[in-house]
Amino acid sequence: MKAHFNRLGIPSVLLLAGAILATGAASLASQGQSGKTLRDLQRAYVETNNNRAAFTAYAQQADKEGYTGAASLFRAAALSEEVHAKAYKRVIGALGGKVQAGITKQARVRSTYRNLEAAANLDAAYTRDILYPKFIKQAEKEQIPDAVKEFKFAKEGDAQLFVLFHDAMVNLNSLRDSKVTYYVCTVCGYTSETSEAECPDCGAGAESYREVR
Ligand SMILES: [Zn+2]
Repeated sequence: MKAHFNRLGIPSVLLLAGAILATGAASLASQGQSGKTLRDLQRAYVETNNNRAAFTAYAQQADKEGYTGAASLFRAAALSEEVHAKAYKRVIGALGGKVQAGITKQARVRSTYRNLEAAANLDAAYTRDILYPKFIKQAEKEQIPDAVKEFKFAKEGDAQLFVLFHDAMVNLNSLRDSKVTYYVCTVCGYTSETSEAECPDCGAGAESYREVR
């Protein structure tokens, strides 16, 4: 084989080998860096699916008890979680990972008041204050902007759900025999009580809202 020499007198084949090694090293480095955030995304995917299953079960219970307005809220919250789960799956795939088991925890269904309390304090407040701030910090460190963005959307979305769950606890009697309409942003999962012109979280247009009753 005839070696080709460039101006520096280094055979092209060696330069090529060097380039391949450098590319390999870079890809290994980026895999190592993204390892923790990939696991965080997989954990968020599972948490989100567990919450979606819980909110769906809580909606059925609320309907059974006649708190149809609370059932609407739980259905909206379940859709919000579905939006987050889809986003996590997409980012996990882009990082070369795979999603793990969908639902790992069966929801404990109690009275609607207790279910609202659990949804607010155990689910929404936990992810808003503990889980997502930790995940955001790590994803920022690893410089994975898509993960940072989705974790921030979920943190804001859960902060809003916390408020809605709390309002529903305080006004539970007004949610009996009345349907309430919620609007869930299909881009970021934010749950709104009005179909504002723009989503307050991601700025998507009103056409991105899906109505849930
Ligand atoms: Zn949005």
